[in-house]
Amino acid sequence: MVYDVIIIGGGPAGLSAGIYAKRAMMNALLIEKVGLGGQITKTHMLENYPGFPEVSGMELMEKMEEHTKKFDLEIKFADVRQIKDGGDVKTVVTSDGEFETRSVIVATGTRPKKLGVPGEDEFTGRGVSTCATCDGFFFTGKDVALVGGGDSAIVEAIFLTKMVNKVYVIHRRDELRAEKINQERAFKNPKIEFVWNSNLQSIEGTNTVEKVIVKNKLTDEITEIQVGGVFMYVGVEPGTDFVEADKDGNGFLITGPDLSTSVPGIFAAGDCRTTLLRQVATAVADGALAAVSAERYLAGIE
Ligand code: NAP
Repeated sequence: MVYDVIIIGGGPAGLSAGIYAKRAMMNALLIEKVGLGGQITKTHMLENYPGFPEVSGMELMEKMEEHTKKFDLEIKFADVRQIKDGGDVKTVVTSDGEFETRSVIVATGTRPKKLGVPGEDEFTGRGVSTCATCDGFFFTGKDVALVGGGDSAIVEAIFLTKMVNKVYVIHRRDELRAEKINQERAFKNPKIEFVWNSNLQSIEGTNTVEKVIVKNKLTDEITEIQVGGVFMYVGVEPGTDFVEADKDGNGFLITGPDLSTSVPGIFAAGDCRTTLLRQVATAVADGALAAVSAERYLAGIE
């Protein structure tokens, strides 16, 4: 059997593509590696997805997953290793078999980047985390450090203040890149202390994290901060290693206005492509556009 479209990734872009593909009566398969929902399930609260003034990432994604059931989207859990481009028919090679398809939508999103400092790997799961929503509870009443100044960092720093005693936000500049509304909230929050112009040098402890070592970039001053945990929010990298199509210097797929990649029949949607804005709203829009573009591509090759 040859699918009309295989969608790789089950986050907002992939699920949206699935809904649009099924409504276009395409024979569609969505392949997801771990669990449906994507990175946004790690966000405790969204306030910028239209129609949902306040919703947790998990709740929103459960609704999207439920929505795909209405249209009987076929979903398979497997790790995609390769897309073999055979022209009009492509083969998606996974950890659980090979699947033939006439088009592909890559919607693999992103994964958290590592900083690469001593202690980061050693203490992962023992005080170092990339998910405040998942792990914040374990640090109730403690002081924690959080590294980064983007949307994820600031949204999650604010969330952590509900349970921890204090959050040291360590940022390499003296200006945040997060949304202004969240910057204002963070600046007003008495439990957040900013450590500006500073780089995390190492994470130290015995069995669990006990302190971080921070270096001020302007003065070279080294400071020790006693913390029970460290949350890393230093950006994201795309899950596109298996895709042989043109990418930018950071591995994000380069797409045209119809979300086509440099390989005919392979489209990209959501955070894994080069784009100005990575939000749930833009990801679901991408999913819709990629599905319609795939449908038009199929009509063209028929
Ligand atoms: P991001 O926007 O790329 O921010 C990464 C942060 O980490 C930046 O502040 C960056 O500093 C810092 N950083 C990067 N490399 C570093 C290094 N080597 N050492 C120290 N600091 C480093 O990543 P993100 O916050 O994970 O967000 C990813 C995407 O999802 C973004 O497009 C974001 O807008 C979106 N998002 C949106 C929301 C929302 O509710 N609106 C929530 C979460 C995520 P510099 O600022 O100096 O570069």
